Amino acid sequence: MEAVRRTLIAGNWKMNLLREEAYVLIGGILQESAPYTGVDTLICPPFLYLEIAVQITKNAPLFVGAQNLFYEESGPFTGEISAAMLREVGCSHVIIGHSERRAYFRESNRELNRKISACLACGMTPILCIGETLEQRTTGATFETLNEQLTYGLQGIDGASVCTMVIAYEPVWAIGTGVSAESSQAEEVHRFIRDVIAKFTDEESAQALRIIYGGSVNSANAGELLSCDNVDGALVGGASLSLDSFCGIVRTADSLKKQSAAMS
Ligand code: PEP
Repeated sequence: MEAVRRTLIAGNWKMNLLREEAYVLIGGILQESAPYTGVDTLICPPFLYLEIAVQITKNAPLFVGAQNLFYEESGPFTGEISAAMLREVGCSHVIIGHSERRAYFRESNRELNRKISACLACGMTPILCIGETLEQRTTGATFETLNEQLTYGLQGIDGASVCTMVIAYEPVWAIGTGVSAESSQAEEVHRFIRDVIAKFTDEESAQALRIIYGGSVNSANAGELLSCDNVDGALVGGASLSLDSFCGIVRTADSLKKQSAAMS
């Protein structure tokens, strides 16, 4: 039997918005996305706003997640935030290994692997970001790059845990550029990721795993990308800062889900 994967639309706010702007956006998303219960909606604001975001969204179908964590439990790690701290304030998800963290903060696959373990140990869902650079794509190194990121990133994590995670395929060349991957490119890579995960774990776990796409998703291109069999949602950067754009993506995802449920 084919696994039913709930679509996840996640907004990565990155280092944007001052507090008042954040409140307004959260309030708007709460109101606008309320009818779209066919999909999971997640916002990932900066650390400082997490606690208030959790409070505002209490009892609402809106998840709140963090953009990063540090893998140690506690101690002399100035400026870092632990998984337990995030769990305590009510985070459900954590983005791990975003390409900006890999590039600007030199986060290695090995380090990301420890972050994933810490996140899982605290009962939160890691969203592991993987993706190739433009150079890797043009030199034919896309699949090798993704394979390496998955293999080292997930090393030692058991199959049962892997299938509770989310993998975000985010081609680096599509992030913040306004140039999204073609839906056929996204589908090809997502299928490849599922195959790698199946070898890593088993077919059933791989079928249950959600693989979402990120890279210049907006309300205009979301429908085509989300119609692909193996695209289980979107990680949205720039467009998640606009109420209309983000809720437009959520609405599109919800109506696709309802259409496919009606057809099956
Ligand atoms: C991202 O940074 O995760 C992202 C997908 O950004 P954008 O949607 O702006 O390309």
